[in-house]
Amino acid sequence: MGETILKGIPAAPGITIGKAYLIDSEDFAVTKRRITDQDLPDEINRFQDALISTRNEILKIKEKISKDMGVEHGEIFSAHLLVLEDTMLIEEVILKMKKEKVCVEYVFLDVLKKYIKTFSKMDDEYLKERISDINDVGKRILRNLVGAKQISLAELKEKVVIIAYDLSPSDTAIMHKKNVIGFATDIGGRTSHTAIMAKSLEIPAVVGLEKITTLVRNGDMLVIDGNRGLIITEPQKSTLEKYISEKKKLEELEKELSTLKNLPCETLDGHRIELSANIELPEEVSSVIKHGADGIGLYRSEFFYINRADLPSEDEQFKAYKEVAKKMGSKPVIIRTLDIGGDKFLSHLEIPREMNPFMGWRAIRFCLARPNIFKVQLRAILRASAFGKLKIMYPMISGIEELRQANSILSDVKKQLKKDRVPFDKEIEVGAMIEIPSAAITSDILAKEADFFSIGTNDLIQYALAVDRVNEKIAYLYEPAHPAVLRLIKKVIDNGHKEGIWVGMCGEMAGDPSLTLILLGLGLDEFSTSPISLPEIKKIIRAFKLETAKKTADKALTLSTGKEIQEFAQSTLKEVLPELVLGGG
Ligand code: PEP
Ligand code: MG
Repeated sequence: MGETILKGIPAAPGITIGKAYLIDSEDFAVTKRRITDQDLPDEINRFQDALISTRNEILKIKEKISKDMGVEHGEIFSAHLLVLEDTMLIEEVILKMKKEKVCVEYVFLDVLKKYIKTFSKMDDEYLKERISDINDVGKRILRNLVGAKQISLAELKEKVVIIAYDLSPSDTAIMHKKNVIGFATDIGGRTSHTAIMAKSLEIPAVVGLEKITTLVRNGDMLVIDGNRGLIITEPQKSTLEKYISEKKKLEELEKELSTLKNLPCETLDGHRIELSANIELPEEVSSVIKHGADGIGLYRSEFFYINRADLPSEDEQFKAYKEVAKKMGSKPVIIRTLDIGGDKFLSHLEIPREMNPFMGWRAIRFCLARPNIFKVQLRAILRASAFGKLKIMYPMISGIEELRQANSILSDVKKQLKKDRVPFDKEIEVGAMIEIPSAAITSDILAKEADFFSIGTNDLIQYALAVDRVNEKIAYLYEPAHPAVLRLIKKVIDNGHKEGIWVGMCGEMAGDPSLTLILLGLGLDEFSTSPISLPEIKKIIRAFKLETAKKTADKALTLSTGKEIQEFAQSTLKEVLPELVLGGG
């Protein structure tokens, strides 16, 4: 085929050169293995064992969910059990295996795909709904058949570039950085949680390539250009040389930036900015410290809840939060309470599939509806607050009522802790994420009852512009610099300041160097982004006066389109720091 350049969406920066490792739309590869007549009984036994193990797994989950969340939720799994009892499906697999003499997992996947296809063509809505049950159970059976524990990505033996239709944030979370040196997916957007995970793991990644899984074969040599969102398949010698040299340059820039680590994040005229890091996993604290953050501005606690069959207990959470609090010492750590839903699912909580998951039953909505789950987390955070400087932040607050409800639950938990004589920080700050337009517009009201705001631009942009953040087809409309977004941000900052509270930003926009100057000029007090982006942001903040930033922001607010604003911001940055502008050095 020769060298081909594919354009996608840059998800995590950096350059990587390596061999492709294709995975099925699931997290393990199913290979076609021929079998003989003698192997047949063994294969049938394997199939039966996998069915039994799957049944036991589902029963266990059903029991646990019924206990934790009520019998009606447990009942969802009865439908899964029915799939396992479908004799037609089972017989078809055995017959096909006998006829085609191919291993059971391969045949099973084939039959499963056929079933799903047939069901998806049906007019009956009820039967259509069963697709997700069949899919879920099918995946479990396959996992048991190939003997994969939950996932095999963590156990890769050599360095590879993962190529997949999609990777869930939970898959990404357990990727072993040592062996996964890059990844590329057919779907996804810049602020999908898969992309965010890639950034925090410092794995170069490109998403939204549409057809990468059909164009690349296992073992193909690839270059991943995570800065520009390109994948080059079968690169020519000259392309390889170009990328090897660029990789070296980037490493040098990184080295230079690392010298800023111990310098304060302040403008030329001494205006101090809080520069914090976003983390998803407690293990990332070392990277936060390495990159010189002033604190953790967003600890996405939901990764604690995924890749497991049950809910994390209070003690387990307490230990993790305490460890992070202790490691960060006097530096603040903002723990965001559970933000499940959207593109992050917990299989055991069985949040029903929704037509619009990002606008559905997620985050604080879920927690307020499940106070027992919420209270466990709040208790754990409060207990850990005795060991460092923790703050609490609620995701997806849409208006004052939700903030009040959440605070009332928090106050109950505090009362109980006092009664139990358990120490915690009585002065703990409690803030709201501003990521829903209604919250931004009513931020004057919210500011009276919150200790701080953190603007979640990943969601705020998708809601303000009606652009699904994980949909690659409309990614061109996802514009952080859109005038509507800038106006909302300005409103939130101004309203926060009027009430004397600080306003930060923890969406990906905070780590976009081309917009740093505008955000600084709008008056943002804290920038929180992935640890790898921190040195660059610090370099920019240290290179300008606050006055210049204000002028840049004022001018930006007069422009009519996101593109104009982006270009204007980029050119202002380029005048002073050309080396930081892609292709501008
Ligand atoms: C956001 O929405 O900007 C944010 C930081 O939260 P998340 O990306 O986890 O939804
Ligand atoms: Mg969000």
